[in-house]
Amino acid sequence: MRRIVIVGTGTGGTLVANRLRRALTPDDASIVCVDRDDDHLYQPGLLNVPFGRRTLSSLTRSRRAQLHPHIELVLGEVDTVDLEGRAVSLADGTALRYDALVVASGATLAPEETEGLTGPGWMERVFTFYSPAGAAALADAFARFSAGRLVVAVLDTPIKCPVAPLEFTFLAEDALRHRGVRDKVEITYVTPLDGAFTRPIASAHLSGLLAERGIGLVTALATASVDGAAGRLTGYDGRTVDFDLAVVVPVHNGAAFVTRSPGLGDALGFVTVDPKTLQVPGHPEVLALGDVTDLVTSKAGSVAHFEGDVVVENLIAALDGRPAPARFDGHTNCFLELGGGKALLIDFNNDVEPVPGHFPGPVGLPLLSPSRLDHLGKAAFESLYWHALLPGRPLPGISRDMPRRGKKLSMLHHPSTTGAHP
Ligand SMILES: Cc1cc2nc3c(=O)[nH]c(=O)nc-3n(C[C@H](O)[C@H](O)[C@H](O)COP(=O)(O)OP(=O)(O)OC[C@H]3O[C@@H](n4cnc5c(N)ncnc54)[C@H](O)[C@@H]3O)c2cc1C
Repeated sequence: MRRIVIVGTGTGGTLVANRLRRALTPDDASIVCVDRDDDHLYQPGLLNVPFGRRTLSSLTRSRRAQLHPHIELVLGEVDTVDLEGRAVSLADGTALRYDALVVASGATLAPEETEGLTGPGWMERVFTFYSPAGAAALADAFARFSAGRLVVAVLDTPIKCPVAPLEFTFLAEDALRHRGVRDKVEITYVTPLDGAFTRPIASAHLSGLLAERGIGLVTALATASVDGAAGRLTGYDGRTVDFDLAVVVPVHNGAAFVTRSPGLGDALGFVTVDPKTLQVPGHPEVLALGDVTDLVTSKAGSVAHFEGDVVVENLIAALDGRPAPARFDGHTNCFLELGGGKALLIDFNNDVEPVPGHFPGPVGLPLLSPSRLDHLGKAAFESLYWHALLPGRPLPGISRDMPRRGKKLSMLHHPSTTGAHP
């Protein structure tokens, strides 16, 4: 009996396990998932916790309950992967032999890697909503905050969901306005990028929206240290930004076991994959998806979703000894909450940056334009996540390859919108 082991049972691991189970019978292969606990958190929902709109328990469900009954879930900490011996070792000494392996262990927050960040003031005036504990603690602090300097800072890249800190900024501005204290709060968004977003057209739109709301933008500042006691963030270039309340996105790494496993990845714990086939070079039977890959593509649930299709097809081919048939184009799709019941949607891939238009075709959700429809789309997505995306069902109108129909691709050739960013 062939055995497929999936390391990490979050967004990517769960959807791949369920799709594999649909594609292969239990007689074709056994499927074993590994994770350290049984709590599957809907991470996009963390954005709502600081505003008191969601609780952590309402965002969390049993991992096991998201898996098809004929999938085994082993709870344990992965310690190493032996690529040559085709085995995953757990911290308790268990060894899981595999014929094919999927690494979907996500990204790890590393706040301790920024000087001073976890020192005085951490979780008192310096918070992150990227962890469950941080999001819950920030809810209390933000509810009490009614005057002073609010700084939202991305400390370095890469991070998961690069739009989430912008969303937090817009929602905070909106909440402070509704509380009647907006004129007493100075809001600044700090980013290591040279614009509000990575790609020029979206960056120009988002910078405009920040300016419209009176939010300051500090660009190209990668944070070297945070002094919570003094309320000061310092960049590697010596520039400083002072705050009364700081909401930061800490440095992200891959997984520590990746660094300990020869041939699997880089020193930061990200798995080295072929950007199109998602296979580990030299090991077609080992594939990775989601936040743990070393790809430049955004680290987002939508990316894990689209990559999942490629991983399933290429893994089955590898089991049969065939070359990889499927290719990933870098398709990324993100809703960005703007406050006031509006959101905007961006959809892009490695070759086509986010442009205005409609998704998934000429009639659909507006792209790169604040709309009520996109806000409702984002709200509806949580239900799709639990009931369609994780179980591995097709999502209507949403496909692996980025749709071109409906997009104003002519904008890509305008001289003022090309060339400024990667
Ligand atoms: C605040 C916030 C907002 C977001 N908003 C959005 C959004 O609006 N849209 C969007 O598309 N994406 C969003 N994301 C990103 C999205 O949640 C992630 O990109 C997605 O979950 C990645 O899936 P993954 O399978 O790679 O990793 P994860 O879902 O994080 O799963 C990784 C799993 O691996 C397990 N694991 C790791 N190491 C080990 C080990 N050594 N042993 C055992 N198990 C291990 C972990 O416990 C975890 O369950 C957001 C993220 C955050 C934090």
